[in-house]
Amino acid sequence: MAEVQTLEQRFESITVQDENYDSNAPVVQHKTKGALNPAIPLSNLGTAASQNRLKLPLQKLPANATGGKIAHSSAVNTTITKITLPSQAAQRSSAESRPSDADPLALTQQPPLPKAKEFHLGMFEIGKPLGKGKFGRVYLARERSTGFVCALKVLHKTELQQGKVEKQVRREIEIQSNLAHPNILRLYGHFHDSKRIFLILEFAGKGELYKHLRKAQKFPEWQAAQYIAQMASALKYLHKKHVMHRDIKPENILVGLHGEIKISDFGWSVHAPNNRRNTMCGTLDYLPPEMIKPNREENWYSEKVDLWSLGVLTYEFLVGEAPFEDTPVMTQRRIARGEMSVPSFVSAEARDLIKRLLVLDPEKRIPLEEVEKHPWILKHCVKGERAFQRASGDGKKVKGDGVQ
Ligand code: ATP
Ligand code: MG
Repeated sequence: MAEVQTLEQRFESITVQDENYDSNAPVVQHKTKGALNPAIPLSNLGTAASQNRLKLPLQKLPANATGGKIAHSSAVNTTITKITLPSQAAQRSSAESRPSDADPLALTQQPPLPKAKEFHLGMFEIGKPLGKGKFGRVYLARERSTGFVCALKVLHKTELQQGKVEKQVRREIEIQSNLAHPNILRLYGHFHDSKRIFLILEFAGKGELYKHLRKAQKFPEWQAAQYIAQMASALKYLHKKHVMHRDIKPENILVGLHGEIKISDFGWSVHAPNNRRNTMCGTLDYLPPEMIKPNREENWYSEKVDLWSLGVLTYEFLVGEAPFEDTPVMTQRRIARGEMSVPSFVSAEARDLIKRLLVLDPEKRIPLEEVEKHPWILKHCVKGERAFQRASGDGKKVKGDGVQ
């Protein structure tokens, strides 16, 4: 608790003064001149970034790349099956064989950003808008001195106050800025002026996973399995740091330039333990039974809520809709009873994983370590050496066989 107070106090101070930035400077929407044209299409970014030969710290895979395993923990954790996603193995081999290609290397060669205390709006060239959320807009941006490409999220303080989400945003900043994992969207820093708060975020070049899913309707099994393996890796990292996300759904997942997923939106995430009450709003589809039952607060704290959501996500990736999708009353009832059926076109292995995740008793859900070793995941995400050989052309196929 003491830690939280200190963090909150620290955040409070940034809303009072900003030693780095002139608050009379023009608003970000007008700040469009510069090397990065405001209308620059995303497709041009690879070129722009590759010219700058930038190095983005997170996108660098560890030498023993283990399917999104965190660099600093992979050495310690030897008991867990190491999985290399074919897409990542492909990235590595392409990085080795085609060093001048734009995309795979462009953002892996970003230099680090200057130190946090130096951040201010004038340092960034603002590019095209990437999207709009409830409380702000996100722009493609580039740090002028280094050419570091990022996404700048602009939040208006008055709107945050009106929406009573200052605490939520503060939590989002504090939690997300302490996370570094290839499948979690990085928050590199933040700064503010008198009216706005700016978040310097990792740029997710392929946008929202939700849109990809809607377009594809459902993902082939190999792709869903690779996404779920990345999710499991990211969630394992979060849970090790005692962070629960609590809002896992396709809308909160972005896609990086290499097609890798990036969990974002830590607004509902929390450091356990926490006594937050049930104030969830929005879709019920991903809520686990223990979060919709008012008298079962004992499980409210558990990171096992993310396992349930991972089950819902697996189902939605493969079927195209969430398992409990119904009227709000019925959704709630069906979640509480765990009432769902997996269509017959879903493979037996995938069905098994879904059923092991969507278990009413949080303690009985399959743990993330076992998710990573589950036959469905192993089938589509081959182990280290073999994946690398296959990606470099020794095997027949890099990607899974697309079994449905
Ligand atoms: P909400 O306000 O409900 O959380 P949201 O998550 O969509 O909605 P933002 O996080 O503000 O809102 O983002 C708005 C949109 O901008 C996103 O939906 C996404 O399309 C785009 N976007 C946000 N962050 C990035 C990023 N780092 N890289 C690329 N696009 C991004
Ligand atoms: Mg959001």
